[in-house]
Amino acid sequence: MTVMVPPKASATASPGRLALDSALFQLDQAAEHLGLDDGLRKMLATPRRSLTVSVPVRREDGRMDVVQGYRVQHNVSRGPAKGGIRFHPATDLFEVTALAMWMTWKCALVGIPYGGAKGGVGVDPATLTTRELERVTRRYVNEILPLIGPDQDIPAPDVGTDEQTMAWIMDTYSVNAGYSVPGVVTGKPTILGGSLGRAGATARGVQIATMSALGDRDPAGVTVAVQGFGKVGAQTARYLADAGCRVVAVSDVTGAIADRNGLDVTAVREHHSESGGVSGYRHADRLTHEELLELDVDVLVPAALEGVLTAENAPRVRARLIVEGANGPTMPEADVILTGSGVTVVPDILANAGGVIVSYLEWVQNTQAYSWSAGEVQIKLRDLMEQAFGEVGALAESRGLTLRQAAHAIGVSRVAEAHRLRGLYP
Ligand code: NAD
Repeated sequence: MTVMVPPKASATASPGRLALDSALFQLDQAAEHLGLDDGLRKMLATPRRSLTVSVPVRREDGRMDVVQGYRVQHNVSRGPAKGGIRFHPATDLFEVTALAMWMTWKCALVGIPYGGAKGGVGVDPATLTTRELERVTRRYVNEILPLIGPDQDIPAPDVGTDEQTMAWIMDTYSVNAGYSVPGVVTGKPTILGGSLGRAGATARGVQIATMSALGDRDPAGVTVAVQGFGKVGAQTARYLADAGCRVVAVSDVTGAIADRNGLDVTAVREHHSESGGVSGYRHADRLTHEELLELDVDVLVPAALEGVLTAENAPRVRARLIVEGANGPTMPEADVILTGSGVTVVPDILANAGGVIVSYLEWVQNTQAYSWSAGEVQIKLRDLMEQAFGEVGALAESRGLTLRQAAHAIGVSRVAEAHRLRGLYP
């Protein structure tokens, strides 16, 4: 692969702008490797549709606020657009575009018939009451209604949203349609047609990717640190502990905690659900957020937000294996430094693909009014994850690529091939 110099992270750019720069750099590298022509490169670098909406919300005290919402469909050449909805104060159009682009490559990489999309609302859900959150969700959905639908674009949970958010989205869409449309979202409660195993699917995929990367190594000797203790991070900690690894540190927005002998992940989860965070858990030491990323562990799982591993802290990372539960946690400059120091990075579009795999299974079940058992879902998830991991590993090995370069080369090449076969209309 032609060695390309990663963009220097600008100190003044928003996290979203940095995420989009990373995504475009990764696309450029893959396009160069695949020898794609300029026209196709431009097409793949540009989202097919981007919608920015204003979302008025009535607060409990009667005031009206207005927040910004976004839905971006990056690519639909292989099927309907698919991607989560994020509620976070720093969300902007750049970030949502980057996340939509990564979804496109991820779906192609694991061989599910979707394009990539993402949505976001620039709001901090922790500052809203449940009723305000419901109003924001329903009004946002109403604003993006022309874009979504089971054959068009299917949202799912992401940072700051959950099963309840998906239930409100399904209801809002269904009320507008005049009948129940469970297939408009995935990650719903099972009683509304959600798939068994969806809630833990991303984390299960991270566990499968970690175990595949560890190969023959006995998990009993493997230490793990997990950044982020939300839907992905907390379950990943649990599944890796269940697999025999020693989870020695976890963090969330409230702080970071560690115990060299291994945390009792179930007890930390109980503390988290009682107090709202991992901070204050009594049977562990306190760390700073930065210290967690630089701990002397075998495996680091970033499972929070983008851009946490940078040119500045990458030289101090001591984990030998990084498995990206989050999307975009490693900046391209950090990637080069980590590769240079022999660290293996299992990239986001492979490591966290378990979520969209089971979302796809949920959508298939909804469109066929059918349901699979939890065991059947687990088997299908494992098969697709292991197959993708095998393909990425084989390409990386044969071409001397990093796992990220190989994963992007596969994902981008499949989307490029879909464009070639479909041709350009008119
Ligand atoms: P979430 O909102 O459930 O959890 C996010 C967690 O990150 C929270 O515990 C929060 O406190 C923590 N966090 C935020 N800032 C932090 C910081 N500076 N240091 C430490 N922790 C911090 O979100 P999630 O659904 O678990 O998503 C996490 C990541 O995984 C995102 O990048 C998301 O795009 C990605 N992802 C999620 C899914 C899914 O199914 N939910 C699927 C694929 C990828």
